[in-house]
Amino acid sequence: MTATATDKTWTIESLVKWATDDFRTRGIENPRLDAEVIVAWALGIDRVRIIIDGKRPLMGEELARLRDLVKRRRAREPVAYLRGEREFYGRRFVVDKRVLVPRPDTETLVEVAMARTAHRSMSLRALDLCTGSGCVAITIARQRPTVQIHATDVSPDALAVARENAQRLGAYNVSFSAGDLFAAKVPWPKLELITANPPYIASADFETLMPDVRDFEPRLALDGGPDGLALVQRIVAEAPAHLAAGGVLALEIGAGQAAATAALLAARGFRDVTTTRDYGKVERVVSGAWED
Ligand code: GLN
Repeated sequence: MTATATDKTWTIESLVKWATDDFRTRGIENPRLDAEVIVAWALGIDRVRIIIDGKRPLMGEELARLRDLVKRRRAREPVAYLRGEREFYGRRFVVDKRVLVPRPDTETLVEVAMARTAHRSMSLRALDLCTGSGCVAITIARQRPTVQIHATDVSPDALAVARENAQRLGAYNVSFSAGDLFAAKVPWPKLELITANPPYIASADFETLMPDVRDFEPRLALDGGPDGLALVQRIVAEAPAHLAAGGVLALEIGAGQAAATAALLAARGFRDVTTTRDYGKVERVVSGAWED
């Protein structure tokens, strides 16, 4: 953008239009939505005000801030990182490059975990592996204030974000520790629920991801080894040692991985192995119950 004193006066409307066109020519997926979200956030206004106040001129300082944000988005930085937050299950989570941006698909993991443990929700002790921003653990904790949840991640940087989210969202029934899957210190020997959204992208597919993901989100949170299932395999193998009788394991997996994952759970001795589709109808969550 070349917004100088000699330029035409920029208004909210013209800025949104300019950013939309710019994003579109660069192949960004939802150019108008991104432009509106960025402008509304930068100006501290609701998105509907963009239409209502479309003719309002922008001040120099607002323009400077918007110019910086548009430049970052143009370089494909995710909107969630620009805003520093992302909504998940109706709550706002703080996010930055230390954690994967929470996806709507992952709400399916929350739904499955809660549905499969509904009958024992009062005294539930749960573990959330690969917690990242903490969105899964914190959402379950807030939806079910009587459960106790421990959340772990191999990345201490990610855990710092998750802790901040737990505090901001008042999830006092979540505790945290760092470590590689079950090597992390968990306060209870037996659990009624284990959830995980592990990295599951096959290493060879990493380069084909959208630049927004590939160039900005943590590779550690995405790369699941040669077939994408390295972490899934380890979790399925090790989970039974930590599950109480009837305890549930629920895993988010990638498109095309459901059959292989369900087979892993069945072979390990899990019962009632079920696959659940996300909002986009993709098989997204595989879950099973452990019977000793
Ligand atoms: N759903 C993410 C993506 O499509 C991947 C998340 C993960 O590996 N757990 O980029």
